[in-house]
Amino acid sequence: MNEIEILTERNRQFASSYTNQLPLMPRFSTIILTCIDARVDPAHVLGLEAGEALVMRTGGGRVNKEIALELGILSMMARRALGEQFQGFSLAIVHHTDCGFERLANPQIGAGISQGLGIEASKIDALAIHDHTQSLKDDFARLQHSPHVPKNLTVGGYLFDVETGLLKEVIPSERLAVPSQ
Ligand SMILES: [Zn+2]
Repeated sequence: MNEIEILTERNRQFASSYTNQLPLMPRFSTIILTCIDARVDPAHVLGLEAGEALVMRTGGGRVNKEIALELGILSMMARRALGEQFQGFSLAIVHHTDCGFERLANPQIGAGISQGLGIEASKIDALAIHDHTQSLKDDFARLQHSPHVPKNLTVGGYLFDVETGLLKEVIPSERLAVPSQ
């Protein structure tokens, strides 16, 4: 049995007791953005149950243009579905210790990958995690400056420690404000 077959067999077991009871809209107005790392699945580390929250995953849990656009789309869809009662989503950006994207901050690794892919080194560096607090601040600022992200989005930054399993607040949750010019 190959790995996909193992997973599809697990799915058959899941489906054997499955009932379709959950609505399209999640129970919490919460979106989790975290790393693709197999150790930081919100279903495990946050105890997230099916139907509770939206989950987005990128390398490092970094905010990029596509994530910003999707946040805009999701907010507009929720507003259409719920009308005035929709107060905006809360986004938790979750980075973690021992992240593979910390490796991209190594100039040799970053240069090797950018050359291998034939792209500018700055594009790799924008995804690299040099410092967790700074990366979370940068991601907050990317959302703040995106024309697609609604200002009623509440954003907090968190760091998951793969040693202890604990989540630490790094940027307290706050609403995106219009950046001062
Ligand atoms: Zn990671």
